[in-house]
Amino acid sequence: MGYASYEVYRNGERIEAGYTVRAVCEMDGCTKEIDRGLAYLCGQTPGGDEFGCGGYFCADHLTYAQQCTPCGKKADEANSWTDPATGITYDLRDEYLPPGEAYKADGWVWKHLGTFEGEVPKLVPVKLPERRPGGHLGVAITTYEFETAGTVAWRQERAVQAGESRG
Ligand SMILES: [Zn+2]
Ligand SMILES: [Zn+2]
Repeated sequence: MGYASYEVYRNGERIEAGYTVRAVCEMDGCTKEIDRGLAYLCGQTPGGDEFGCGGYFCADHLTYAQQCTPCGKKADEANSWTDPATGITYDLRDEYLPPGEAYKADGWVWKHLGTFEGEVPKLVPVKLPERRPGGHLGVAITTYEFETAGTVAWRQERAVQAGESRG
């Protein structure tokens, strides 16, 4: 399949897509000119998939996750869990580390793989960079004060920089 222009089915309707096909952002009221290339697509597959509706949107109306606002909101709700005891909301697409564990590019991070302990999502250690699970079946996300791996990595980087500047 060439990417310049091709036809796809979207909601049972045949449409022209591809980066040579000129279009206007499909957000109501937005008139930004775009094309129907993958860069403007909501979701990952032209025509729509489980990630998005297959609409085409300008950069202002696509999230960093390549979704339009309604699809992004739906995905956020489907992928988040709020601890009724603490009110903390976890994004289940994030990678986490228990307190005191360092982030290493080839180390372990804890990830939600779809398993639960009762109502509570579980996190399972997976090995970077392939994110392959080991033998550990994981623990409920409320077991430790999990932090996102991104937060831990950022703090580590700051600590290294501070150490260097002190000489
Ligand atoms: Zn969408
Ligand atoms: Zn727009």
